Amino acid sequence: MQMYSGHINKLIEELAALPGIGEKSAQRLAFHLINMPEQKVKRLTDTITNAKANVRYCKECFTLTDEDVCPICANKNRDHETIMVVETTRDLSAYEKTGKYEGVYHVLHGAISPMLGIGPGDIKLKELIVRLENDVKEVIVATNSSLEGETTAMYISKLIKPTGVKVTRIASGVPVGGDLEYIDEVTLLRALEGRIEL
Ligand code: ZN
Repeated sequence: MQMYSGHINKLIEELAALPGIGEKSAQRLAFHLINMPEQKVKRLTDTITNAKANVRYCKECFTLTDEDVCPICANKNRDHETIMVVETTRDLSAYEKTGKYEGVYHVLHGAISPMLGIGPGDIKLKELIVRLENDVKEVIVATNSSLEGETTAMYISKLIKPTGVKVTRIASGVPVGGDLEYIDEVTLLRALEGRIEL
């Protein structure tokens, strides 16, 4: 026996498939959406469609942006010879919020995870190596301190060392297993300042 109409069931199912949304939240959201004025629902769906259609990867650092090149990469006052490697655009935002980092970034969109079958070819690593053809003084590896983050850091270090470019790793002020996006700015800055050469 179906408790709800097929359309509501489908909506709950789609919402529950989103990260961080369980069955109960999905039900609550579904009913909230159904009770919203049509205009508001339209605005929400248009916003999602437009974001999907217009957001793309920055040609240089691969963060998500509305332009070909993101505002950070386009900024001539940033230090383009220092590249901080992060796993996600959210991690980039975390460091950007400190307002103290003046270099540029490289977003991998993931980390190497043999357990999940994610290999070096599945993240933006080749793209990082291509960037080293320009003048680069230092690559700061700021992947998470999870097993995947550490594996990725080691891999990057092995890959870059032969090129002679300095590779550093942010200090372990970042708690083990901690996601960068949840860590406060002071800790992030301390981790950056205490970085060690790999
Ligand atoms: Zn960029």
